[in-house]
Amino acid sequence: MSQAKAKAALPFINLFARYLREQGLPVTHQREAVAKVVFGSEEHLSVDEIEGRLREEGNRIGKATIYRTLDLLVKSRLVEEHDFGEGFKRYEHRLSRQPIHEHLICVECGKVQEFRSDEVQVVEDRVEEELGFVPQRHRLEIYGLCKECHESGVSLEDGGLSCPIETV
Ligand SMILES: [Zn+2]
Ligand SMILES: [Zn+2]
Repeated sequence: MSQAKAKAALPFINLFARYLREQGLPVTHQREAVAKVVFGSEEHLSVDEIEGRLREEGNRIGKATIYRTLDLLVKSRLVEEHDFGEGFKRYEHRLSRQPIHEHLICVECGKVQEFRSDEVQVVEDRVEEELGFVPQRHRLEIYGLCKECHESGVSLEDGGLSCPIETV
């Protein structure tokens, strides 16, 4: 991890440490190391990726500890958990550069991109105005092909049933 990223992560590690103390939980080196990887990244990291980065830094931390720490990070509301239907979860720093953003998920290579949508804000405002529903949060995920996969000639296949009528 670069010096700049490690430095940027520090205030959030301190917030997490405060959360742990408030919960009566010990602030261990392992918990701090896991938090530092998540806070030092603007990506959507899987547990495997987090484990790999910890190992690169010379930290050998077991998966069970990583899972437990991520669970605490999510409960502290500093980290958001995503399930993009890949069979595993991804984690991202909630207070990173772009606090409110939507996700584009490539079904071919698994790349997750972020984009901002002012239109969704308009929809939230409209819902409140027309239905009296007060929006708190939303989730918008668009699945498809990223630019690179599309340009390399991958095409999307519709994997559904070709005939929806029961024939047996
Ligand atoms: Zn792709
Ligand atoms: Zn994101």
